[in-house]
Amino acid sequence: MVSRVIPVDPFDLVIFGATGDLAQRKILPGLYRRFHAGQMPQGARIIGAARSAMEPEAFREQVRKAIAEFVDRSKIDAKDVETFLECIDYVPVDAMGEGGWAELKDKVQDGRVHAFYFSVAPSLFGPLAERLNEHGIADSEARIVVEKPFGRDLASAKALNATLAAHFEESQIYRIDHYLGKETVQNLMAVRFANILFEPLWNAQYVDHVQITVAETVGVGGRGAYYDKSGAMRDMVQNHLMQLLCLIAMEPPYHFDPDAVRDEKVKVIRALQPVSPADIVRGQYAGVKASETRAAQPGYLEDSENPDSRTESYIALKVHVANWRWQGTPFYLRTGKKLRGRASEIAITFKAPPHSIFDEEDASWPENVLVIRLQPNEGMNLKVMIKEPGPGGMRLVQVPLDMSFAEALGEEGTDIPDAYERLIMDVIRGNQTLFMRGDEVEAAWAWTDPIIAGWEARGDRPRSYDPGSSGPEDALMLMHRDGRRWREIRE
Ligand code: NAP
Repeated sequence: MVSRVIPVDPFDLVIFGATGDLAQRKILPGLYRRFHAGQMPQGARIIGAARSAMEPEAFREQVRKAIAEFVDRSKIDAKDVETFLECIDYVPVDAMGEGGWAELKDKVQDGRVHAFYFSVAPSLFGPLAERLNEHGIADSEARIVVEKPFGRDLASAKALNATLAAHFEESQIYRIDHYLGKETVQNLMAVRFANILFEPLWNAQYVDHVQITVAETVGVGGRGAYYDKSGAMRDMVQNHLMQLLCLIAMEPPYHFDPDAVRDEKVKVIRALQPVSPADIVRGQYAGVKASETRAAQPGYLEDSENPDSRTESYIALKVHVANWRWQGTPFYLRTGKKLRGRASEIAITFKAPPHSIFDEEDASWPENVLVIRLQPNEGMNLKVMIKEPGPGGMRLVQVPLDMSFAEALGEEGTDIPDAYERLIMDVIRGNQTLFMRGDEVEAAWAWTDPIIAGWEARGDRPRSYDPGSSGPEDALMLMHRDGRRWREIRE
């Protein structure tokens, strides 16, 4: 199956923070890949902007290096790279000052889609929005793209929403959660709402529980001091895991339309119950002493440069969605750093059949599980029971019906667009379905804030866990006491 590439309308995309890590690692290489795939139309232009004084040619050299480093070799075509670089310009602009704005205004051309990507610290979102308007660079059709983190609590998210709303309509604001740009995440909606098979079973009557796991092998490394102000709850659960939970739990929207989809997601967030302290486990990875087989590794407390830190690098929670569909079906969420493997997945475990017609010894077969893998190897896998092959009577065995998207989509499938590429193309198309709306972000913080305030008031300390493990022991107990088990995190 070959995926179709439909070019978008001609655009001017201004990337503020174009010399930064995100722009160089994700945004610019992603745009090159879209160009190479034929999706970026003739005449589209990318204008880098940051404070660094630099000629456009020097910036193009940076982009050339970023492509060489972050684009798969099979997609690097010398001629394409040169033509792509011709679309690129650069203006030194200071978000906090007046320098560069007149030059930027001259570069942005009329009669095309205008998008402004704020790939800068959130403290600059307000000043950028204000100056874009003041200088008459962004018109009422322009789009702005803002990065996470969108606030650190409800009050700061509200303030940020109010600042952006002073200059732009909600229909112009694209709040990125790159998890929503993943192929599998969108496929989750297709599987649920374009098939009759799953939806009748997609409720508390048939679903025993849901597990959402986002496991990383890396620690907080060089950004420890920054991470220490946030922690796993703010950095991952409030946004990424929450978005996944919403897509699993939401009702069918009346149409695949941005506001219809987001209305349903907001309803899920508002239906989330407060989480009791007994249903929360937080952890910090320990350090490793040097031995014959292992080099020494710093623990979280060293990485964060805060020996007294109470910030979690791991969290597991049991969450309830209090509505008709999900009453009694728990959602277990976990995410952490320095774990055994790198994996992002959702597992929906169905209940056992109500009556067994098979022999007693075979009656305790494992449940059907639908696993939706975001990484590695985006795809889905449904575990079903079949008869074990051979003449040995009716013995049952569980097998996976596996659909790896890379395989299913043939050779082209190995080139599943990166989440950023897809999302930027959606910005140009003016499609907000995969972006968070202001009220959605606020609802997510309104649920998160009291949970964080609770452990701060209690003075809870995160439990230590071994790097390379699946997290603190207590997190295993969170499920064991309910007679359930976490899925294994594989190396
Ligand atoms: P970064 O590497 O520190 O880059 C920041 C960029 O902002 C640089 O290009 C910097 O260039 C520019 N900048 C700083 N002050 C400026 C000013 N006053 N006016 C204009 N430009 C200014 O940061 P990053 O990692 O790319 O992150 C950018 C944003 O994306 C942040 O909000 C971050 O939270 C978010 N994010 C990043 C990642 C990631 O993987 N890196 C992932 C998710 C979200 P000059 O110094 O030349 O001005």
